[in-house]
Formats: sequence, structure tokens, C-alpha cells
Amino acid sequence: MKNFNFKSAANTKEAKKLVKGRAIFLAGGMTLLPAMKLRLAAYTDLINIKKIKGLSGIKVSSKSTKIGATTTHAEVAASKEVGKSIPSLAVLADGIGDPQVRNRGTIGGSIANNDPAADYPSACLALNATIHTSKRKISADKFFTGMFETDLKKGELIETIEFEVPEKSAYAKFPNPASRYAIVGVYVAKLKKEIRVAVTGVESCVFRCKKLEQALSSNFSPSAIDNVTISSKGFNTDIHASAEYRAHIIKVMAKKAVSSC
Ligand SMILES: Cc1cc2nc3c(=O)[nH]c(=O)nc-3n(C[C@H](O)[C@H](O)[C@H](O)COP(=O)(O)OP(=O)(O)OC[C@H]3O[C@@H](n4cnc5c(N)ncnc54)[C@H](O)[C@@H]3O)c2cc1C
Repeated sequence: MKNFNFKSAANTKEAKKLVKGRAIFLAGGMTLLPAMKLRLAAYTDLINIKKIKGLSGIKVSSKSTKIGATTTHAEVAASKEVGKSIPSLAVLADGIGDPQVRNRGTIGGSIANNDPAADYPSACLALNATIHTSKRKISADKFFTGMFETDLKKGELIETIEFEVPEKSAYAKFPNPASRYAIVGVYVAKLKKEIRVAVTGVESCVFRCKKLEQALSSNFSPSAIDNVTISSKGFNTDIHASAEYRAHIIKVMAKKAVSSC
């Protein structure tokens, strides 16, 4: 942790040039710095991307809401534009961690990190997001590949996350009372062409729950969830909840989300 160079990139071109060898991008530092302090990770150079103009900010149109990678959770939570276009996204951002985490942590850092219990990955999947990077566009369905794993290549910088504006949507989270990470989080979105339900906190990686999607496609109401059976096979068991308990809570959170759509 103690020996590293700190460099600030002025633009994306410079960031790309600086991130060589064992260098890594630094956004809010809310995950990267604790990992380095605990000696779980070590890097020679931290490349601060928070000074890059254009990487932060929110743009809303009738079809999509675009959020720059270094936009903080507090900014998304307080945004009137997000509150109007996708209120559930502002609610999600407001429920992340504590005020310190919300004021430092960024949306780009959250999805690049892909913690199995993070909130934003579920929003990306449910809202059919497109992740714009320094190299390409990646659909959310292909972006989250495993526990703390994404499709990002070495040195690839997330620039913007583009969310489809849904007809209706809601996020319901059963949070860990200490960290606020999701023990179970369910994001339900009624999009123009389909219904998507994404689940976080339950497996090693966020996933779409096809059974809930099918049930809600024929009847978009909480009662449609009653007859859905969720198997706990492959679900996490830890000190907070057993796999069976998580399977039960998925239905409870899904009903809560549909009720508040
Ligand atoms: C006490 C605590 C409680 C928390 N509670 C929650 C919670 O309830 N819900 C939740 O979802 N999260 C929670 N978090 C996580 C937090 O929300 C941050 O989003 C997360 O830590 C990462 O964002 P960051 O900006 O701090 O990224 P950093 O820590 O700076 O970076 C994390 C990783 O992402 C990479 N990265 C960052 N930005 C980019 C980019 N633009 N392009 C490519 N790679 C990039 C970095 O290189 C690094 O590998 C919590 C964190 C803490 C410390």
C-alpha cells in the first residue's frame, strides 16, 4: 500500500497512456483503497480519473439516461433529471452505503468492481444498459461476467452508462444493516419491449431471473409472483443468510418492487 505513484489524468487519452503495467484507475477509492490497505491488492501507480472533464454528469432524453462514469452516488440520488426519468435509479443510489461512501463512490467504480452484493449492476441489467468505454459499447447482459469480474480489458476505461428509460421500474433491497450492501436486491423494470428482473446479493454475480420475468410478462402484479418457485441451488450461504432464506427474500423483494412500480 505504501509505495505507489499517484498521477492525475487530464483527459481520457492521457489516462490510457498512464495506465501501463501494474497501474490502475482510481475513481472514488471506496473499494480500491481498502483493498490496498488490507494488502489484498498492490499497484505501482494509481491513475486518478476524477479530474477528467466530461467523465462526470447526467444527460437525459426521452429514450435514455446517460450517466458519466465518475458521477457520484450522491449526485445521482440528488439529480432532479434522474428523479424524473428513472426515479428507481435515484432511490437505488440513495440507498448505497452511508453519506461518506455516496459522496466519494462513483457509478463507474461500482460496476467496474462488480461486487456480488453491489446495487448498480442490478440496475444495469434490468434497465438494459449499454456501457460506453474508451474502446467500445458493451451491453449489460455481456458486461458482468463473474465475481468481481467484468468484460473490461486491461486499461479500458468506462466513460458513460446509458440506461433505457422504462415505463415503470422499482428497486427493493434487503440490506446488510452495517454496510447497506444487498443481502438480496431485486430490480424490476417494465421496458417498452420486455420485462426485466435483475437480482443481486444472491449468487457470485448479478443475474436476471427469467422465472420472475415470465410471470410478470403475463401479469404485471405482485400476485403473479405467488406461484413462482425459486430454487436456492447455487445461492450464497453466509453469516447473514442461508441460500434458502435468500430464495424466499427474492420473492418478497420482487413483490415489494412490483407494488411500488
Ligand atoms: C463502507 C462501504 C459501504 C458500501 N456500501 C455499498 C452498498 O450499499 N451498495 C453498493 O452498491 N456499494 C457499496 N459500497 C461500494 C461503493 O458504492 C463504491 O461504488 C465502490 O466502492 C466502487 O466505486 P469507487 O468510485 O469508489 O471506485 P474505486 O474504489 O476507485 O475503484 C474500484 C475499481 O473500479 C475501477 N474503476 C473505477 N472507475 C473506473 C472506470 N471509469 N473505468 C474502469 N475502471 C474503473 C478501479 O480501477 C478499481 O479496480 C460500499 C463501500 C464501502 C466502503
